[in-house]
Amino acid sequence: YRDFTQQAKWDATFMAVPDAKLAGEHLKVLTSAPHWASSPEDYATAVYVADKFKAAGLKTEIVPYRVRLTKPVSILVEAFDDGQKIMSGPTPEHVDPTKNGGDPFQDDPRILPAFNGSSPSGEVTAEVVYANYGTLADFKKLAELGVSVKDKIVLVRYGENFRGIKAYIAEQYGAKGVLIYSDPADDGYFRGDEYPKGPYRPASAVQRGSVQFLPIYPGDPDTPGVASTLQLPASSRLSESQLQNDEPNIPVNPLSWHDAEPILKALGGSESPRDWQGALPFTYHLGPGKVTVHMKLVEDNSLRTIWDVIGTIPGTEKDAPVIAGNHRDAWVYGAVDPNSGTAAMLETVHGLGVLLQQGWKPRRTIIIGSWDAEEEGLIGSTEWVEQHAGELAHAVAYFNTDVGVSGPSFDASAVPSLKEFVREVTKSVPSPAGGTVYDQWKKDQAANKGRRGHGSEHANTPPEKDVRIGNLGSGSDYTPFLQHIGVPSTDIGSDGPYGVYHSVFDNYNWFIKFADPTFVYEQQQARVFGLEILHMADADVLPYDYDLYGQNIVSYLTTAEEQATKAKLTLDFSAADAAAKRFAAAGAAIRAVQANPPAHTAALNVALREAEGALLNPVGLPKRPWYKHTIYSPGEFTGYAAVVIPGVTEGIEAADTERAQGQIVALADALNRSAAILEAVKK
Ligand code: GLU
Ligand code: CA
Ligand code: ZN
Ligand code: ZN
Repeated sequence: YRDFTQQAKWDATFMAVPDAKLAGEHLKVLTSAPHWASSPEDYATAVYVADKFKAAGLKTEIVPYRVRLTKPVSILVEAFDDGQKIMSGPTPEHVDPTKNGGDPFQDDPRILPAFNGSSPSGEVTAEVVYANYGTLADFKKLAELGVSVKDKIVLVRYGENFRGIKAYIAEQYGAKGVLIYSDPADDGYFRGDEYPKGPYRPASAVQRGSVQFLPIYPGDPDTPGVASTLQLPASSRLSESQLQNDEPNIPVNPLSWHDAEPILKALGGSESPRDWQGALPFTYHLGPGKVTVHMKLVEDNSLRTIWDVIGTIPGTEKDAPVIAGNHRDAWVYGAVDPNSGTAAMLETVHGLGVLLQQGWKPRRTIIIGSWDAEEEGLIGSTEWVEQHAGELAHAVAYFNTDVGVSGPSFDASAVPSLKEFVREVTKSVPSPAGGTVYDQWKKDQAANKGRRGHGSEHANTPPEKDVRIGNLGSGSDYTPFLQHIGVPSTDIGSDGPYGVYHSVFDNYNWFIKFADPTFVYEQQQARVFGLEILHMADADVLPYDYDLYGQNIVSYLTTAEEQATKAKLTLDFSAADAAAKRFAAAGAAIRAVQANPPAHTAALNVALREAEGALLNPVGLPKRPWYKHTIYSPGEFTGYAAVVIPGVTEGIEAADTERAQGQIVALADALNRSAAILEAVKK
């Protein structure tokens, strides 16, 4: 039996430990230098994290992998109007040091020029076409308007989809190169004051970022499904010609609006659709015409060593670990992304260490991961999951945090089976703004604040009476756990106006001015993250909610059927409909068993865990076999946002009846397998 009094005592002991001031100190140390994955400064952060893990009593290892990363050697982007040079970039990221305190971090010689990870080297000169956010709908619209991007350089703005998708679609439409800029309408002066006066992106600030084709597979581009350990023979890596379309073949680079403005301003062609207009003070045109751009990118894509840090607390039950993690590498300083998460995680670990000193022994083994090279494509987490897929197949949960704190509005994404669990945890943590985290979360949602930046999607979740929790798409390290090996996952953090994402200005100075000056939201984050771990590790009965899961899946199918009807596709949904109803009924029935469990809960827990695993389709999704989850994946054309029942939904979107029908059957099989596991539990 679970001893509730003892459990409450451990909770209270834990809650008293995470310390705001210490979190601030961790953050300061972790962000003292640019620490791009594989750099000596990145290694230093691994050692710092490992030392804290060890001090708390975790069995700790620094785990290296050898992976292919892009490092810029030289980046040139210049623009000409009728042969006259109108821009020569990239302009270094810089703010006026005499105004609003300037920025103390911008002049470090270790800052890499702004680039997109996974771009090939290349030199192209071409006319330019403006393609708004570079979504599939935007490219279709251009084609409708009779503007071809073939052999052009496509200029797109950040926002809406994952940047790698912009390149993916541009390449399919025949573009020769891609430039991605940050429009002030999306995260600059149009939203509010620019850094250092306010939290928004200044003129020269650039959003770096990977343009790997994330929805195909993440991780080291050369080793899908295989871990890039130091021992992996070179012959086991994919050669150039074997690569599975996981990276662009045309050069791609980011720009600040300072550098994009002269191009946009001089662009000919017809006026852009009015909703494509950004906030720069002239009318945006589509091109092509007048302007030509010359891009010359020299990138070094050698193999480099990266370092995960893995800390373990052995439980009395060995084979069903609870895993929690956060990435540690940053494009530059990464005060918000990701080290606000790391600083909080270290205070969580501090709390677990105090429990260990007081004789606590968790029921389930706890593993804490500090991932490297997330920014390049979730590499550290993916390689570790690929290496340990066998043992991890029974993990009971993966708790992710990435951007831990950029402001005060808590938000979360999760699989449906863990939504209620996350809500319960937030009811036990006080908010610096009064009441509990849950109370504030509810208020913020009513005021429409705090939507998670990436990887989440509220829109396609059926309305819930309670606070809404988004679905997991991709863009952070939960992807290998949930979508490759079927570990139920959550992603949490606390958000606010954050315009400096992936720029030099995401640094400690920005953080203490705009995110969390007294680190109280860091403390909150450490507590919520810690209670997730504690409650899952010590749960007598695993707290999954298959009732809600089932209801959600039934509604996903209803939506898919409506889409199919609209697209005039003739599909037979009956097998999937029946399976979803069966799964939902089994989910409702198991809720009753969970509420009134048998004396021995082992078999019940195994069934509860295996039911999620059964939702994997071992052959994976069409075109992207690495992704095996039948209910959630990143969208082929969204990247960040989840597509639900992806095989079916994308088959319908592609108007491919045969593919969609095959995926309906695969979904029905998975749901029937999962339902059978739940039904077999003895009441
Ligand atoms: N979180 C990072 C980003 O959004 C990495 C995503 C990826 O490449 O998988 O850029
Ligand atoms: Ca791999
Ligand atoms: Zn991140
Ligand atoms: Zn990032």
